[in-house]
Amino acid sequence: MAEQRTLVLIKPDAVERGLIGEVLARLERKGLRVERMELRTMDTELSDAHYAEHVGRPYYEELKGFMTSGPLVALIAAGDEAIPVVRALAGATDGRKAEAGTIRGDFSLSHQRNLIHASDSEDSAKREIDLWFGA
Ligand code: ADP
Ligand code: MG
Repeated sequence: MAEQRTLVLIKPDAVERGLIGEVLARLERKGLRVERMELRTMDTELSDAHYAEHVGRPYYEELKGFMTSGPLVALIAAGDEAIPVVRALAGATDGRKAEAGTIRGDFSLSHQRNLIHASDSEDSAKREIDLWFGA
């Protein structure tokens, strides 16, 4: 048993489409616990910090515009192996290629507008939880 905490963002496309409940239901039905949750709007500074490794990539300016375009839901999900478990529920990054049955596979037809962010490692989970929910 390896209890983990991971940062999840229900991205602005999912909020705009009325899919907050759908995404949350999938996390909850899997058995994950929601420890913190807040409706937030990302600003440019938070986007640059959250996506630090992507700044300067060809898609980043458009990604930043999308992520700061409206409210999103930031939450901490907790449970056994929560980091890889949420990544598996999310599916592959490009919604057109993500497997059916995953959140992105079932609801996204886009590489960018793919409904959910989930931390990809213990180091990034710690960094992202501090960034979004730290003091
Ligand atoms: P993931 O969210 O699956 O961890 P990445 O860390 O590679 O994926 O990318 C972060 C986010 O940037 C993606 O979720 C997606 O919204 C966007 N993105 C990544 N690569 C591209 C791309 N080639 N074109 C458009 N958007 C992209
Ligand atoms: Mg990533």
